[in-house]
Amino acid sequence: MTMKLLTPEKLAPLASYPGIIDSHIHLDSKAFAEDFADCLTRAREAGVTRMLLPSIDQASSQRILKLTQEHCQLSGAVGIHPHAAAEFDPHSSPQLWRELLRQGKWAAIGETGLELHYDFCPLETQKVSLQAQIELAAETGLPLILHCRLAEEPLYDMLQPWAGKLTGVVHCFTGGWEWASKFLDLGFYIGVGGLVTLPKADEVHEVATKVPDDRWLLETDGPYLSPVPFRGFRNESCLLPAVVERIASLRGQSVSEIVRQSAENATRLFHM
Ligand SMILES: [Zn+2]
Repeated sequence: MTMKLLTPEKLAPLASYPGIIDSHIHLDSKAFAEDFADCLTRAREAGVTRMLLPSIDQASSQRILKLTQEHCQLSGAVGIHPHAAAEFDPHSSPQLWRELLRQGKWAAIGETGLELHYDFCPLETQKVSLQAQIELAAETGLPLILHCRLAEEPLYDMLQPWAGKLTGVVHCFTGGWEWASKFLDLGFYIGVGGLVTLPKADEVHEVATKVPDDRWLLETDGPYLSPVPFRGFRNESCLLPAVVERIASLRGQSVSEIVRQSAENATRLFHM
């Protein structure tokens, strides 16, 4: 990974907005191994009070279980990412998830979903893994964290039969307002992150502008998707003030209102 690390000089102009919740950061990833404690400190200084760590695979879930037991400001989600869906085993994965769910306090199932941009795993394999995680979410009452890349239609088709029985978030949403409103109608929230700061991301801007006050979440998706003016740097929770400012200007609301809405929504959805 060729991501630059933030320096105090680079961070100096950034504001601090108390009460931010980062609903999606891969803090268990190798990208944070070297300076994990500093990341937590920088996040706290930027006003971030809680972070939710979605799993990528089974090893990731084990790491997240440990991290959430060690740090009270961290919550976790258990599941398998669509990029790693080939790891899903119908005989062992659901049992492993249930075991992990018994061992700790988890806020959500995921991240799961469908990916049609990268070809890491055939769509049919991704669907089998997603279906098992949908069933686990329904069984446990936990919300789903969903990844969706160029896959709005097949994802919608798989969620639609569960309307009213499931909730969750379609994170880092890039599917345009028409699809966003369909997922909202199914009862899902929409995740908004660093992409909203890109000047030409018209569809992401439209979604961030139109999504109802009580149906969106703030996220980094760190280490990926850093906001402007930190492109090329590793993304982490301490950069969220830049995202908050952009969302506030798009929605014509104050930064404190944006922080309040997103934190209330995350607290409600994930029972934080
Ligand atoms: Zn993610």
